[in-house]
Amino acid sequence: AAVPPAVAAAAAPPHLLLICFPGQGHVNPMLRLAKRVAAKGLLVTFSSLASVGARLAAAAGVSAGGDGVPVGRGRVRFEFLEDGDPGSHLDDLMRHLETAGPPAFAALLRRQAEEGRPVACVVVNPFMPWASDVAAGEGIPTAVLWVQSCAVFSLYYHHVHGLVEFPPEDDPEARFQLPGLPEMSAADVPSFLLPSNPFKLLADAIITQFRTIERASWVLVNSFAELEPDVVAALPGVTPRPPELIPVGPLIELQQGQEDDEVRGDLIKAADDCVEWLDAQPPRSVVYASVGSVVVLSPGEVAEMAHGLASTGRPFLWVVRPDTQPHLPEGFLDSVSGRGAVVAWSPQERVLAHPSTACFLTHCGWNSTLETVAAGVPVVAFPQWGDQCTDARFLVEELGMGVRLRGARREAVREAVEAAVAGPCAGDMLASARRWSAAARAAVAPGGSSDAHVQAFVDEVARRARG
Ligand code: UDP
Repeated sequence: AAVPPAVAAAAAPPHLLLICFPGQGHVNPMLRLAKRVAAKGLLVTFSSLASVGARLAAAAGVSAGGDGVPVGRGRVRFEFLEDGDPGSHLDDLMRHLETAGPPAFAALLRRQAEEGRPVACVVVNPFMPWASDVAAGEGIPTAVLWVQSCAVFSLYYHHVHGLVEFPPEDDPEARFQLPGLPEMSAADVPSFLLPSNPFKLLADAIITQFRTIERASWVLVNSFAELEPDVVAALPGVTPRPPELIPVGPLIELQQGQEDDEVRGDLIKAADDCVEWLDAQPPRSVVYASVGSVVVLSPGEVAEMAHGLASTGRPFLWVVRPDTQPHLPEGFLDSVSGRGAVVAWSPQERVLAHPSTACFLTHCGWNSTLETVAAGVPVVAFPQWGDQCTDARFLVEELGMGVRLRGARREAVREAVEAAVAGPCAGDMLASARRWSAAARAAVAPGGSSDAHVQAFVDEVARRARG
């Protein structure tokens, strides 16, 4: 017999909808959170701009359904905003999001209700403050997913509330200190908060989000309780009191094979065959190098990096995005053939988890930072801007997992790689990395601190939806 509609609706799992800022460093943690929440029984929809949907589908090699919806085998549904052309410059994108985003997002939320799956909770990114306003207008509670560290959250919070004055950028000796954090200099502060920041619109969006963050019912953070205990413990003592941070990370793909979904989150098709190349290398021999999805090195820096990596004499796997490949020195690929591999995009977590990988020369984006922590791979930290400087400081000085590279000169690259792989402190760095890896994996394992936080969040969303 047919189930009466009222009964069917009562039995349906509550619907959680995530709306994601269009950047690789946001898509990865949000999609991974989506998968974890879906695995705990909620109906979950991942949404972003239509252009993100098209890229996800193309990179995953799956057919795009209506409106560019990737059709995966996984539990997460995909639906994208009908938002028109976002343009490619960061400022154009921010303006586009602010004008086209709110009406398109409101329409998407209403469509869910009309089609019988009303949204019980929206998860928003910190770079789109308007999304929580739209959700509030529809009477839907929101959770923020903070995709950077708790330390960076504290720096932003203190700055936005006028609770800290950062030292001048031209005074490298001057120090300041926040509760639960070590003494820092201006070089450790996220660059968006410093007077020299050129990305004003992006900084404005994050700052606006911070001013209104109390409106969110939950602030989930991609970190884990054991990684940043002092800052998490200190924040409730700050006045005005910040919202409670709920660490749910590291948001990494859980074990391979457990993945039931071919939509991994890549916006560029990954060179999965580089894993076979890694298989052919000796254990703990390969230098993996990547500056993530946004940082652009100058032609001179690319050339220096190329000579530096080649001069280590070690095998290396280097991510050089297509726009940067023309800056490789002439004949470089032939000269390193067999020992060095260059790919446009790597399956990074698989690379870091591979036994042949010895160290990670990284720009220290927070996802890369957590992924190398989870994999237990020591680093050569090469931060450029944003929160990367804070993360590099954290990886090298607080976690003891590697060395700093300052400037892309070839000798400096070679020396830093040697120090991380074979220098007098390399053994200690590897031991620290392995300890942090064990702690990270324990946090996301069933019953671990982050797993318990995800479960409590899911239970509360369900309770509110039913209550
Ligand atoms: N990534 C990847 N393949 C690459 C380079 C990066 O899969 O060749 C992924 C990486 O695993 C991480 C994300 O892209 O999850 C980059 O995020 P991150 O916060 O490290 O840096 P961003 O790109 O935002 O600067």
